[in-house]
Amino acid sequence: MELIDTHTHIYEPEFDEDRRQTMERAAEAGVGRLLFPAIDSGSHERMLAVCRDYPGRCLPMMGLHPTSVNDNPQWRRELDTVERMLAAPPVERFYGVGEIGLDLYWSADWEREQTEALHAQIELALKYGLPVAIHTRNAWPQMLEVLACYRGRGLRGVMHAFCDSEEHYRRVKRLGGFKFGLGGVTTYKKGGGAELVPRMELEDMVLETDSPYLPPVPFRGRRNESAYIPYICEHIARLKGVAAEAVAEATTRNAVELFGLEA
Ligand SMILES: [Zn+2]
Repeated sequence: MELIDTHTHIYEPEFDEDRRQTMERAAEAGVGRLLFPAIDSGSHERMLAVCRDYPGRCLPMMGLHPTSVNDNPQWRRELDTVERMLAAPPVERFYGVGEIGLDLYWSADWEREQTEALHAQIELALKYGLPVAIHTRNAWPQMLEVLACYRGRGLRGVMHAFCDSEEHYRRVKRLGGFKFGLGGVTTYKKGGGAELVPRMELEDMVLETDSPYLPPVPFRGRRNESAYIPYICEHIARLKGVAAEAVAEATTRNAVELFGLEA
């Protein structure tokens, strides 16, 4: 049973020393395909180079991360780059628009700009029929307001690094078309996973590491990597009281459907 890491940044320099081994460890752990969310033009080439090294295994998305909008006088040019890339992909294809969203944790000073960038990129996702990978930090009321604008327009995607309240789960679910990316945070004692995950349906879940960040238990404090996806899968299975195979099967099917992958 193949597992899919729907959100990893192994194209980042943290993996320059041992990327090939990291990919091998992922394969040995049963993690076949990896989806790469883009950050900004500072890392596009790195990301695309790794995708060219692993065709069919490393699958790129394209988008501008909300924290790359902050304090960046060039952010509108960055959006133009995203648009140009989506219009004429320099690789076989992009699998989604991401990662995009709202992040008011580091600073709330660029909420207006982040919101504009988010709307612009959601429109691109709709134009190209792609799912979105959405990052939300300290901005849930604002995010729900943005998403509500697209009700009935066929927007779909993944709420990345989701470990929020059941209420937010239900509200996003009602908008339709969204999956929830569960990662290392669901394994943390104070992460909220023990309350949330049992109330979620398997049909709504996809797995992700967000590596090199947010490693699951028992790897906290270390670099995260895709080979740890089985730990997340097994933890979710325990919380749900189902077999790990059931979680693996459902999350892989959900990822295949959402990102339009080959089954
Ligand atoms: Zn990310």
